[in-house]
Amino acid sequence: MDNPVAAEHIRHVTPDEAAKAAARRRRAGEESSLSVTRRARKIQRILAETYPYAVAELDFDDAWQLLVATVLSAQTTDVRVNSVTPILFATYPGPQELAEAEPESVQEIVRPLGFYRSKARSIQALANRVVDEYNGEVPGKLKDLITLPGVGRKTANVVLGNAFGVPGVTVDTHFGRLARRLGWTTQEDPVKVEKDVTALFPPKVWTELSHELIYHGRRICHSRKPACGVCPIADLCPSYGEGPTDPQVARKLLAYELKPGREELLDRYMNGATRRELRAEGHTLSA
Ligand code: SF4
Repeated sequence: MDNPVAAEHIRHVTPDEAAKAAARRRRAGEESSLSVTRRARKIQRILAETYPYAVAELDFDDAWQLLVATVLSAQTTDVRVNSVTPILFATYPGPQELAEAEPESVQEIVRPLGFYRSKARSIQALANRVVDEYNGEVPGKLKDLITLPGVGRKTANVVLGNAFGVPGVTVDTHFGRLARRLGWTTQEDPVKVEKDVTALFPPKVWTELSHELIYHGRRICHSRKPACGVCPIADLCPSYGEGPTDPQVARKLLAYELKPGREELLDRYMNGATRRELRAEGHTLSA
C-alpha cells in the first residue's frame, strides 16, 4: 500500500506490520528493561527523522526572551504567545525596561493571552528579580532558575535546554502522555516521568527528545484519537490501536504541517525554513 502520508521521509508502517509486532510483544510477555531502552532509542531515532526541524515552538533570541515567553505560555498556545512577544520585546527589550514599565501598558500587550493581569504581574515580578539579584542576566543553573517567581522545573528545563545548551527533558502534557503510551514510564508526576525517561537515554539527546515527543503529540499522537494508522512508530508502540488504525481515517487526524493539503509547508520546513520565515510569508502555522 502507498504511504498515506504524502512525505517520503516519514517511516511507513502498515497495519499488518503493526498488528504482527503487537502480537509478538504479547507472546513475549513482560518487557525487560534492556528491551525497553532499545525500543525507546529506536523510537527516538525515528522521531528525529520524522521531525528533523523540531525546535522549541516558542520564538526567542536569548535566554531572557525564552524565559518570559515560557511563563506567558501557561494556559495558552505557543502560537498565540509568538504573536505577542515581538511587540513585548520591541517595547521592553530587556528585564530592566520591563521592570520599570507601567503595569497597564504591559497588560495591554499581553491581553490576547488571557489572564492578562496576572501574566503581566508575573513577568514584571520576574524582571524585578532578574534585575535585583542577577544583575539583569538570566541565571544558567536549575537551582537558581526555580527560585524565580512563576518559574517551575518545567520552565527552568526549557530555558536550560534551549538557551544554555544544558541537556534536560521538558515534561509537559504531551511529553507525559506519550512517555506513558510508549511504555517508558507508568508515572503521572512530571518529576518522576523525567527521572524514568532520562534513565533510558544519554543526556545529549534529552533536549531534542523533548521537542520530538512534543511535536509527535501535537501532530500525530493526540490525546483523544491518536492517528495510529499513519504513525511511524506504530510497530514499536504498546498503545497501538488507541486511535484509528485505518490509514485513511488516521490520515485525516494529522495536524500542523502534516495535515493533508499542507505539503508545501512541510517541504519548506524540510528544506530548512524557520517558523519566522514562514510566518513572514503569510503562513498562519496554526493547526
Ligand atoms: S498511540 Fe498510536 S499514534 Fe501514539 S505513538 Fe502509539 S501508535 Fe503512534
